[in-house]
Parts: sequence; C-alpha cells; structure tokens
Amino acid sequence: MPIYEYRCGQCEKHFDATQSVHARAEDTECPHCHAQSATRLLSACTTQVKGTHKTGFAEMKAYNMLDERMDKFAKLPPLMGKRAAPDMTEPSDPSTGGTTEN
Ligand SMILES: [Zn+2]
Repeated sequence: MPIYEYRCGQCEKHFDATQSVHARAEDTECPHCHAQSATRLLSACTTQVKGTHKTGFAEMKAYNMLDERMDKFAKLPPLMGKRAAPDMTEPSDPSTGGTTEN
C-alpha cells in the first residue's frame, strides 16, 4: 500500500498515512488533533524514485528481450541457406541444357 503525506487543516501538522489508493483525503483523520480536514500532499520523493527505478528496469528488460530476439534471428539464416542449397544445383544440371546444334 502506498504511503500518503497529509497536512492537517486544523493543526497544520504533517503526517504520513499508509492507506489504499481509494482512500479519500476527507476520510483521513489527523493523528494529532483527530480532525478530518487533512489535505493530501504529493510526496514527490517516494513516487519519483519508484517511478524512475521502474522505468529503468523495464527499459533494461526490453533491451534484453531485443537482444534475445536478435540472437534468434541470427540463428535463422543458416537454416534457410541449407534449404536453398539443393535448389541452386538444379538449374546447373547439364541434361536439361536445352538444344545442342551438333
Ligand atoms: Zn491535526
């Protein structure tokens, strides 16, 4: 569960509250004066650190997946080359070389 930072509108004290995403600011009770007039502050540090770390990790994973795919593609051409090799010999067969004027 995320930690939200609040500022009490009554005593103007700051406090943290661990609550669900659906919790509303007006339902949050101040632990100091128990007034329900707190306003949620965007705790920039926690969300930003989490965000950058996540995207960085996702990018790393994406690059790894790309490398893996490139590796698989690199292994494909030899297989196709093997299949193409027998076809290459057929046109050069001398018995089907057309008419000979002798
Ligand atoms: Zn308060």
